[in-house]
Amino acid sequence: MQKKPFITKEQAQNIIKKFPTPFHIYDEAGIRNNVSALKKAFSWNKGFKEYFAVKANPNPFLINILREYGCGCDCSSKAELQIAKTVGALGEDIMFSSNDTPADEFKLCAELGGIINLDDITHIKTVEAVCGALPETMSCRYNPGGVFKLSNGIMDNPGDAKYGMTHEQIIKAFKIMKEKGVKNFGIHSFLCSNTVTNEYYPMLAKILFELAVEVKEKVGVNISFINLSGGVGIPYKPGQQANDIAVIGNGVKAAFEEVLVPHGLGSVKIFTELGRFMTGPFGALVTTAINEKHTYKEYIGVDASAANLMRPAMYGAYHHITVLGKENAKAEYKYDITGSLCENNDKFAIDRLLPKIDMGDILYIHDTGAHGFSMGYNYNGKLRSAELLLCGDNSVKLIRRAETEKDYFATFDCFDFYEKLIGD
Ligand SMILES: *Cc1c(COP(=O)(O)O)cnc(C)c1O
Repeated sequence: MQKKPFITKEQAQNIIKKFPTPFHIYDEAGIRNNVSALKKAFSWNKGFKEYFAVKANPNPFLINILREYGCGCDCSSKAELQIAKTVGALGEDIMFSSNDTPADEFKLCAELGGIINLDDITHIKTVEAVCGALPETMSCRYNPGGVFKLSNGIMDNPGDAKYGMTHEQIIKAFKIMKEKGVKNFGIHSFLCSNTVTNEYYPMLAKILFELAVEVKEKVGVNISFINLSGGVGIPYKPGQQANDIAVIGNGVKAAFEEVLVPHGLGSVKIFTELGRFMTGPFGALVTTAINEKHTYKEYIGVDASAANLMRPAMYGAYHHITVLGKENAKAEYKYDITGSLCENNDKFAIDRLLPKIDMGDILYIHDTGAHGFSMGYNYNGKLRSAELLLCGDNSVKLIRRAETEKDYFATFDCFDFYEKLIGD
């Protein structure tokens, strides 16, 4: 599959007149089409609900678009719970899938009426202590251990992951929770990240469905939902085949009919907590080439840095780059595309073949709509960029302003040198 920007060079130039680079821009139409396709793929399940993983993109304007399609919020921190509250996601529109959780965050979740998804058996006591009693609806996160492999070679290592309860623990947790008055139970698991294969969700679903049958038989509780969590990926690289959410939905349906229905569990609701799949492809980091350097390698310096998009520096992740206006030019120059951090890993691309880049060219870094802006940081005093929304009518809306030095220095505002820092 070719990777095509959702804005042209002319559009970018017009936007830049008002909002200087760097910025992240999101494609409203793309987000809407995608969430519609997800809903359709799971429409066979009456209780289906997507809880958007807020950490992937905690912008209330984007979450509000997803809210129109009935999406809830998957949160794992106090600030994320506050965002959920702000967009009106309350009660069972909140899934709290946290780990290493501070007690007061359980309390806040319970006050908002959200569903607590327990990462660990020891948290039963914590929740009971801070909330007075256990809520009527609760969920537990399962970690089957070992290694999880898909047939296309994608694998992950649940046995080495900090999340979730062992098989023995989750059975025990459900027993304790039942004794303590919980009425409706959920099972959650996240085994593999960014899977670009239609096979992942159906395989995971089968494991969780079988566990649900076992829990029903052994513990005698009502499993009311199964949460497949996140992990459905996107094709960052050209040539990768995108997931087909309709095929994935059908695969989960087949496992549902095979395992749950014969055991009288046909009314179980399917939940998802997708982040990357919901917004990833519908965001881009737009940045300008401001320096070129010819030493042992050819470098192009841009005005964005890893502080705006950490994935390449952190995981060596591939993000495709289009030089706007040069979409059809031959990619015959080999560049490292760098930011200005004093860190040699601050590179958006290494040895990447691209068309000849001239100073002032606008680079479009693809697929930054999830785990992009939200992973941003302030190293070297770099400021977070603005976020823009390309609306359905092609107008552009500012949905988060760029940080200023004043924001960066705000936590010194109780000291006498603050005025000097922020100058005029
Ligand atoms: C990160 C995360 C998600 C979303 O993952 P994606 O890979 O973005 O789909 C969902 N649930 C939990 C608990 C997570 O930590």
